[in-house]
Amino acid sequence: MKTTFGKAAILALSIMPISVFASHWSYEGEGSPEHWGALSEEFKTCQTGMNQSPINIDTALAAHLSPLDVRYTDGPVTLINNGHTVQAGLKSTTSDTVTIDGTPFTLQQVHFHAPSENTVHGKHYAMEAHLVHKDAKGNTAVVAVMFDVGAENAALKALWAAVPEKTEQEVSIPAQLDLNTLLPTDKHYWRFSGSLTTPPCSEGVTWIVLKQPMTLSEAQLKKFAQTMHHDNNRPTQPLNGRVVVE
Ligand SMILES: [Zn+2]
Repeated sequence: MKTTFGKAAILALSIMPISVFASHWSYEGEGSPEHWGALSEEFKTCQTGMNQSPINIDTALAAHLSPLDVRYTDGPVTLINNGHTVQAGLKSTTSDTVTIDGTPFTLQQVHFHAPSENTVHGKHYAMEAHLVHKDAKGNTAVVAVMFDVGAENAALKALWAAVPEKTEQEVSIPAQLDLNTLLPTDKHYWRFSGSLTTPPCSEGVTWIVLKQPMTLSEAQLKKFAQTMHHDNNRPTQPLNGRVVVE
C-alpha cells in the first residue's frame, strides 16, 4: 500500500509542469530576487514594474502629514514560518485598523525582514516589521517599523517563543499580545507608492514607513536569523520619479 502510494506520488511529481518548480522564489541562488521576474509569468511585475519596493528613502517632500492614526486592540491569533518570513495572522473579524486619507485599512498580518528592506539615507536597520492592511476595496497599505539592536521588544518576545520548529506549520497563539508594543510612540512617517516586496511584486501598495525606530535585543535578532537561515530582504529598487512625502 505504502509502495503504491509512493509510486503514484513520484508519477505525479514527474508530470508536474516545470513552472511549478520554477516559481519557487527565494533570497539566494537560482530563485534569488534578481531572477524573480523570470521565474513565472505571474511574477513578471517584479522585473517590469516601475513602482517597486523596497526603496532607499533619501529626500522627502514636506506635506505636513499628521501622525498615523492607529487603532489596534486585538493581538494576532496564528503564527507560521513559511520559509520566507515569520508571519503572524489576525482573526478575520479583527477591529485593528489604521486610517489613511479618511479610509480605514484593516490589519491582515504582520511579518519581518532582516536586515531591513527599505533603507534610510542608504542605511539598513537590523530588522523591519511589515504590518499589512487592506481596505474594503482590497487596496493594500503596509506600515513598516524599523528596529535597531538595543533593548528587548515585548511583542517579539512573545512571538519568537511561539515560532514553530517546522516551516509551513501554523500554530495558534493566545490573542493577548499587544501589537502596539511593536509601534513607536511617535507616529510620524514617510509615505510613498510601491509594491509587495515578494513575488508577485504587485504594485499600487501604499507604504507608510514610521520614522522612529524601535529596538530588539541582539538575542532576538539572532533567533530570527537562525529561524530564517538567511537574510530575507529584497534589494532596494529604483524610484523612477516617485516622490516620498512626509
Ligand atoms: Zn514584507
